[in-house]
Amino acid sequence: MIYQRPRGTRDIYGDELERIELINRGAREFFKLNGFTEIRTPTFESIELFVRSIGLHTDIVEKEMYTFEHDKKMFVLRPEGTASVLRAVLENGLKPPCRLLYIGQMFRKERPQKGRYREFQQIGVELIGEAAPFYDAECINLAVRFLDTIGATHYFIELNSIGCPVCRQSYKNMIENYLKPYLPNLCSDCQRRFEKNFLRIFDCKKDSCQKIYEVAPKITDNLCEECGLHYQKTKEFLKKFNINFEENKKLVRGLDYYTRTVFEFKLKGLGAQDTIIAGGRYDLLVKELGGDNTPCIGWAMGVERMLLALPELQPEIKKSKKFFIAVIGESLFDEGVKLREMIIKNGFICIHGNPLDKIKTQMKDAHHYKVDYVIIYGEDEAAQGVYTLKNMMTGEQKKISQNEIIQFIEQCQ
Ligand SMILES: [Zn+2]
Ligand SMILES: [Zn+2]
Repeated sequence: MIYQRPRGTRDIYGDELERIELINRGAREFFKLNGFTEIRTPTFESIELFVRSIGLHTDIVEKEMYTFEHDKKMFVLRPEGTASVLRAVLENGLKPPCRLLYIGQMFRKERPQKGRYREFQQIGVELIGEAAPFYDAECINLAVRFLDTIGATHYFIELNSIGCPVCRQSYKNMIENYLKPYLPNLCSDCQRRFEKNFLRIFDCKKDSCQKIYEVAPKITDNLCEECGLHYQKTKEFLKKFNINFEENKKLVRGLDYYTRTVFEFKLKGLGAQDTIIAGGRYDLLVKELGGDNTPCIGWAMGVERMLLALPELQPEIKKSKKFFIAVIGESLFDEGVKLREMIIKNGFICIHGNPLDKIKTQMKDAHHYKVDYVIIYGEDEAAQGVYTLKNMMTGEQKKISQNEIIQFIEQCQ
């Protein structure tokens, strides 16, 4: 019997892992140049942190968290990055404004499907301590520019404002009155949401509910004066950045902590899993977690979904030439070590065979590793002061001098 990985997880290796690492490296480079510093927080945190931040009546907290008990305390594998980052900012006394980047694994007990895993990687950025609408636009702009650097193009941006507690309270009365006659027609999820977390009804996937919400009044049209101005100014700055976006008045996001601006980057043709970046403003969360009043905005990108969505646009992996050194006999070992150093210094891959193996065994290894060249150095070669170079792609084999082998390695591409 072979053990199997848990459902919804996966093993990442080879080209796919290289692509993920390329995106991660790209993110580190790009965001460093834009004034961000990277932060790494623990993979598990106390359960209270997420209940407090994401909200008790959200899908994540109600049914998607991996929890465990230790020392009579409850912990969770982090389902998202923002709460941990803010906890770290407060705990370590980082002074806002700060710009933070995080890259790491998140965990959610969701139903697995293509591009959706129970352990997945996110790249996220947070602009902490920034209240002005310029930063809403800048935050979205940074995502657009970053996607440029990794070659993503087939996406569109959806934007909305879900206001502040003031406008939400008056809107709540309005939507309650409006929906009252329709309540029996809503699905059971929506009826439940309506009681506990009313904005989230707009998230419902059922056509029968959506038909009702289509014509219902939207919070976007009922913002308080300040939220309205903030939204207006955000859109103006986005236009100044030359960023195209669509307003979606039903975009509300599944987490409680958002205020005002929310946005999603969606890919065309991906169906239900089409969101690659999601984010928004969370002006009240730092205070909720025990800090001073600190407005913030940020987003997170799902790396797996990104890769799934863009197979033809994945960054090209530069394949380095691969060498195999077949030294025959222990007495010639030093020569192999020198050769390997030279090959690696020139940026090529090199595998050193076991000098105690016969040439036949070493050639078998070289085949197995799919190398491009084998350099053979045995007694004959040592006596003649040459190397045998075998081109594994053409099968051609020739004896060349030491100078020639150095030249060959230096000019190899
Ligand atoms: Zn407001
Ligand atoms: Zn519904």
